[in-house]
Amino acid sequence: MKLILLGAPGAGKGTQAEILSNLLSIPTISTGNILRAAMKNGTPVGLQAKAYVESGRLVPDDVIIGIVQERLSEPDCAGGYILDGVPRTIPQAEAMEKLGIDVDTALSIEVEDEVIVKRMSGRRTCKNCSATFHVVNNPPKKEGRCDRCGGELSIRKDDAPETVRARLETYHRETEPLMAFYEARGKLVKVNNRPTIEETTAAIRAALHI
Ligand code: AMP
Repeated sequence: MKLILLGAPGAGKGTQAEILSNLLSIPTISTGNILRAAMKNGTPVGLQAKAYVESGRLVPDDVIIGIVQERLSEPDCAGGYILDGVPRTIPQAEAMEKLGIDVDTALSIEVEDEVIVKRMSGRRTCKNCSATFHVVNNPPKKEGRCDRCGGELSIRKDDAPETVRARLETYHRETEPLMAFYEARGKLVKVNNRPTIEETTAAIRAALHI
C-alpha cells in the first residue's frame, strides 16, 4: 500500500498515519517530523527550513523532494509507505511522479477550518519522538509526558492561532489543488472527519477496504 494523506494542518493526518502504519506494518514518512528533527539537530536542511516552518510557510520544493527521495530509498519503504504532509504542492506531486514515486491512493481527510483552529490550540507534541496528543481528544496518560517514550510534551511554535491561520491559507492556496490532481488520476478517496479518532479510523478503513 502506497498511500498519501491529504488534508489541512490539524486534520488528523499524523494521528491516522500512525494508526494505519501499525495496522499495515509500513512506515510513515512525515516531512514535517523530518524537518523538525533537522531543525533540532541544526543540520543544513534544518537551518534552511527554520524560518519557513516557524512562520507557517512552505519549505522550497527542491528541499522537500530531496528529503523524500532519500527517505524512500531506505529498505523499510520497499513494501509500501504512508506519506504524511507530502506532496504539498502541484510541483512536488509532479516531481514525485517524474522520479517514479508510486502512489496507489491519495486519501483526503476533510475538516472545516473553524474546527481546525480550535483543535490546534489543544495539540501537544513530544519534543523527543514527535508523537502527538490532544488535551481533550487524546490526552496523554500522564500530563505533559509522552505515552510512547516519556519525553516532554510541548506546544509546537507553529500551532499558535495566527500561524495556524497562515498555514490554513497556504493549504487552501497551494495544497488543495492536489485533490483535482489525484482525482484526474482516479486515485482520490475522501473521508469526512468524525467526532472521535476511532470513528475517523473506521471511516478510513471502510473507504480503503482494509
Ligand atoms: P506538518 O508537520 O506537516 O504540519 O509540517 C510543518 C511545517 O513543515 C509546514 O508548515 C511547512 O513549513 C513544512 N513542511 C512540511 N512538509 C512540507 C512539504 N511537503 N512542503 C513544504 N513544506 C513542508
